[in-house]
Amino acid sequence: MPRPTQAFIDLSALTHNLTIVRHYAPHARIMAILKANAYGHGLLHTASALKDVDGFALLELDAAICLRNAGYQQPILLLEGFFSIEELALFEQYQLSAVIHHTEQIAMLSDSKYHDLDLFIKINTGMNRLGLALEQFPQTIRKLTENQRAKRITLMTHFACADDPAEEENVMQQLESFQAVTKGCGYPRSLANSAAIIRYPQTHTDWVRPGIMLYGASPFPDKTALELDLQPAMTLSSRIIAIHELKTGNRVGYHGLFQADHPMRIGIVACGYADGYPRHAPTNTPVLVNNQRSRLLGRVSMDMLAVDLTGIENAGLNSPVVLWGKEIPVDEVAQSAETTSYELLCALAPRVERIVLV
Ligand SMILES: *Cc1c(COP(=O)(O)O)cnc(C)c1O
Repeated sequence: MPRPTQAFIDLSALTHNLTIVRHYAPHARIMAILKANAYGHGLLHTASALKDVDGFALLELDAAICLRNAGYQQPILLLEGFFSIEELALFEQYQLSAVIHHTEQIAMLSDSKYHDLDLFIKINTGMNRLGLALEQFPQTIRKLTENQRAKRITLMTHFACADDPAEEENVMQQLESFQAVTKGCGYPRSLANSAAIIRYPQTHTDWVRPGIMLYGASPFPDKTALELDLQPAMTLSSRIIAIHELKTGNRVGYHGLFQADHPMRIGIVACGYADGYPRHAPTNTPVLVNNQRSRLLGRVSMDMLAVDLTGIENAGLNSPVVLWGKEIPVDEVAQSAETTSYELLCALAPRVERIVLV
């Protein structure tokens, strides 16, 4: 028997979550975000579950080519664009769309022989990560159109705070800056990530860009995936591979971070931070053992972690353990470990076997 650490990927959950995107943004085209190996879920089977979307976006060129070679005809957008003139040949060959976020990229385009690329011009409206400065935008767009360097142009921006209920004003400021600078341009637009899709319908415009909600986690700290009718697409599971009876005072794991204050039974689970389970998850982080909620004990090691078997009926060697999934939302684990579901999902290690459920 192989090591029992496995991630089950539920394609019907992905398809269901796509219907939720459509429910919130019925008039927008949908660009499914598949970056970071589809947030850890695996590129090609995730794409197959989402094959009806209007486009895909990611930022790894090899993955984009892989998608195109798999036969998808939709636009495939590279979210950081191209990094060199040499790469432009591949954009042309595989008909890939590029984000243009810097004037240096326009200069590369001008120096090249390519002039029928599909371009998404990204404008920095306040996040100060990627995008042309507001003042740069008018002359940049003029240059592009004068020199006919594009087959098609779409205008985009990205919100810094759409997930934070206290930051509505900030989102509206970004929206207004975008509207002001692109007024009268007539090009299609793309603004909304998952949080904006759900919370700000006025940002939907022509293309929405859902990521995390497709994978069944909540973009919000104050709303669960269940409340949003999103279904988790990934279940990370393993089994108990050792059992110990602790006496009062016994300590568990590296640095003995957990200490038993009464006699108790614990199980050792074959899953650790080298599988993608967060090392910073503390004692009491929820886990599911034999279909019953329990808790993590002590420090997570590279390949294993310890769980409390107090009151878990019939738990023993080989009992199934769910680290996250339907009964243990990845958002709960993330909160306990002071990180986000995004980080946990995309950190799933290559050594964890992904088993696709259709
Ligand atoms: C990752 C990403 C998204 C998706 O964000 P979610 O919060 O996962 O929905 C959308 N747009 C851009 C530019 C991104 O980088």
